[in-house]
Amino acid sequence: MGSKKEVIIIGGGVIGLACAHYLIENGASVRIIEKEAIGDGASHGNCGLLYFSDVIPLCSPGTVSHEIIRTLKRTSPLYIKPAWDIKRLIWLLKFAFKCNSSHMTRAAGEKYELLHYSISLFDTLMALEEINCDFEKKGLLTVFKKSKNFKNYGKTSAFLGTYGMGAKKIDKKELQELEPAISDDVEGAWLNETDWHLRPDMLMASWRKYLSQKGVIIEEYCKVSDFEINGNAVTGVNTAKGNFKADAFVLATGAWTCQTLKQLKLDLPVQPGKGYSITMERPGICPLFPLILYESNMVATPWKSAYRLGGTMEFSGHNDYLNPDRLSKLISGATAFLREPAGYPVIEEWTGLRPMTYDDMPIIDRAPAWENMIIATGHGMLGLTLATGTGKIVCDMVCGKKPEINIAPFGIHRFS
Ligand SMILES: Cc1cc2nc3c(=O)[nH]c(=O)nc-3n(C[C@H](O)[C@H](O)[C@H](O)COP(=O)(O)OP(=O)(O)OC[C@H]3O[C@@H](n4cnc5c(N)ncnc54)[C@H](O)[C@@H]3O)c2cc1C
Repeated sequence: MGSKKEVIIIGGGVIGLACAHYLIENGASVRIIEKEAIGDGASHGNCGLLYFSDVIPLCSPGTVSHEIIRTLKRTSPLYIKPAWDIKRLIWLLKFAFKCNSSHMTRAAGEKYELLHYSISLFDTLMALEEINCDFEKKGLLTVFKKSKNFKNYGKTSAFLGTYGMGAKKIDKKELQELEPAISDDVEGAWLNETDWHLRPDMLMASWRKYLSQKGVIIEEYCKVSDFEINGNAVTGVNTAKGNFKADAFVLATGAWTCQTLKQLKLDLPVQPGKGYSITMERPGICPLFPLILYESNMVATPWKSAYRLGGTMEFSGHNDYLNPDRLSKLISGATAFLREPAGYPVIEEWTGLRPMTYDDMPIIDRAPAWENMIIATGHGMLGLTLATGTGKIVCDMVCGKKPEINIAPFGIHRFS
């Protein structure tokens, strides 16, 4: 090995690429090892929101009862496959216990730090002329069908306001002018100007090209099957293409974290949370803004080059089965809100696995027994949004620098 620090990143999703970006900028020698092609995981077909105002964790007061009611009414975006899976059951119970106001308030403050940190880093990344991804700073409209929900969001907005991210109330009449793609029978919307959006598959393709040009070595179709250990250090990984050695390792394997860590006997509570999306040509009356369709619990994202509907959350293990019922729910969910809910032809129907933790907080920490391995996973519904902040923190940790924000809330110790 030369004098440069050699780093292997396992996993070529948005988190892996972000880590590679800051590491190569800091003079490290970087190799990404990916079991499929770069960007084939959850980072491919997600909704593309840079949802910086999403400080409130998924586990907040009322989430469980709300979902039970919606499941009974068959309107829930959530599906839990009945199976005797003890790990999943424990995970779900722990999630339910976290649905309280003290966790919500604490987690929101801690998550805000990372969200806020990611904003300016994204700004710098998006300014690179090599990164082409239909990026726009338009804000995000959360649209409501029911007046009770529309009104209640005022409390959420007031809470977000304490972080300087309050939303602007848009009444029905104003909304028709602002966003003509929305049908007449909605109650109104809230506009959050803090949020941005981009096209994730384009981001992954152009970022990959940029990093290759900067010298990052990319090994694709190269699954890491086990680790080589010497004392309290990882010294190498064994893969389908042979053995690779390095000074430091970053594990960014998303929803496959538990499988990858099995050989190291490290068990982290990361469950795959399956979501779906449909990418289409832009409909004739295409939304101007990215939209959260509140009662349908889904997102519609317009780009210059296409249009995507996405959402749903399934706990059904690791699988990539494209359930036609779940896909059709995206169309019916959008039909309830939009004049022209779908565009033709369909470009892609997709499913991906979010890496979910039961406290809805990412994991960014050193592996307890192996100081030279950093784990960056568990970003749940916000992996794209939190990628730059995470990548910069990981880079600082690898380079022996103190991260610029407090990373204690993302530590592994919280699970013990
Ligand atoms: C429908 C949907 C909509 C979403 N919308 C948004 C959104 O609008 N905004 C947002 O911020 N987030 C969104 N997300 C979440 C976001 O997509 C994820 O949090 C993020 O992509 C996770 O990135 P990652 O790099 O950790 O995982 P991934 O992108 O899944 O990357 C992990 C990679 O590791 C590889 N890997 C696994 N095991 C091994 C191994 N043993 N050896 C080598 N490689 C391995 C995998 O093949 C994979 O490519 C959405 C997710 C879904 C499903």
